[in-house]
Amino acid sequence: MSDPAHSIDDRQVKALDAKVDAAIQLVARLHDALLDVKRAISHENPVRDVLALYDELWINLYARNAKPVVHYEFNRVVDPAHVKRLLKVFDTNTLKQRVTRYFLDRDLFLVKNGHPFNLFLSRLNTYGVVNVPSPSQAVTTAERERALQMRKAWGGCGHKPRCASSGACVLAIITKWRAQEQQVEVI
Ligand SMILES: [Zn+2]
Repeated sequence: MSDPAHSIDDRQVKALDAKVDAAIQLVARLHDALLDVKRAISHENPVRDVLALYDELWINLYARNAKPVVHYEFNRVVDPAHVKRLLKVFDTNTLKQRVTRYFLDRDLFLVKNGHPFNLFLSRLNTYGVVNVPSPSQAVTTAERERALQMRKAWGGCGHKPRCASSGACVLAIITKWRAQEQQVEVI
């Protein structure tokens, strides 16, 4: 039997639960504020860095030889806020890796639309899959050789738009294979 003097009723439980929620939110705000200060002190600007990488990879694919330089047209109001929100969930390198994988994806729909930022946001989770290689991830010798043979058969890069380098091309080919293998597994 519980001691009535020490038991709490539903209403009290609810009130305590609300207090815990409020405290958790406070800690989260404190965490964000401290992170902002830390980044400011070390001159880190991860939002700028992520957007700069996006722009760089976009230029590589769509405006490599443009003079004067053409940049990706971000929505300067909304897009940095999206990146800031994502950086609360992912660290900078994880997010950059996903951006890199996004540009390795030569899905026709993506290419037709010029790899827009909003599709990156909506497909973000797809590019977290480890099966999709990033330049820093190991590509097997067999994969590389198969990809090089494919390039040979194409007489160079067969992508539209063309890849910035043969290395990027090989990765794009392997990325597609791995994505296809994954779809088969899912089905
Ligand atoms: Zn290519």
